[in-house]
Amino acid sequence: MDGLYLIIFFIFGCFLGGFYTVLGNRLATEDYHFFPYRCDHCRHLLSFLESVPLFSYWFLKGRCKCCHKKIDIMEPLMEFFTGILFAVSFYSFGFSYDLLIALGIVSMLIIITVSDLNYLIIPDEVLIFFILYFIIVQFLSAGIVEVFFHILTGTFLFLLMYFIMWVGEKALKKESLGGGDVKMMFLFGLVLDPLLGTIAVFLGSLFALPMSFFLLYKNHEKVIPFGPFLLIAFTFLYFTKVTPDAIVSWLTFS
Ligand SMILES: [Zn+2]
Repeated sequence: MDGLYLIIFFIFGCFLGGFYTVLGNRLATEDYHFFPYRCDHCRHLLSFLESVPLFSYWFLKGRCKCCHKKIDIMEPLMEFFTGILFAVSFYSFGFSYDLLIALGIVSMLIIITVSDLNYLIIPDEVLIFFILYFIIVQFLSAGIVEVFFHILTGTFLFLLMYFIMWVGEKALKKESLGGGDVKMMFLFGLVLDPLLGTIAVFLGSLFALPMSFFLLYKNHEKVIPFGPFLLIAFTFLYFTKVTPDAIVSWLTFS
């Protein structure tokens, strides 16, 4: 029966992925009209068939039916990735509180990747929503003591990132990190423990390096959207279920 659930999670994820793309773009531009879906160019109202994930892109040949403007390729890609990651979440965690956390992480990853890549913005609404979401899930699954532990961890990671941003600004004499990246670290602490959260920061920086060099080489003024890289590291660490002990023993070759 697991196969059927995987398919259901994939389809559900594809539909949500389409919504997340709209949400990421609209929140970043402070446009609060999410439903019903409209074309970004001519505001043409999309019919149900035109909003079915993946198929609509294929069936419309990548163009709006009304104004024939190209649909951003990011839309079907994000729908597909969300579907895959939802299925992987179910495959890895089954029906559990960990699954609720995994789906939250994936949702945050998609929404923030869209808004940060397109507009270099991590909307506060998204951060606040997921702070509440993770606190509620942690409370239901592990109780109030665990929630306090995670709030402390989040505060620690927030301060750590703030310190990195401060050092970066002094060293580069310009804004190196966005405020959104710093605020987002509080969220990482609501899920990970202090060591894993710190590793997420360094792993994210490592993932961002190739793109930073590419952008610096192409355009000196360009700011790097750091959020998606941090989130990829965060997702990776959560899904691989790696423990701090395993990392310490790996680092010390014991
Ligand atoms: Zn159009």
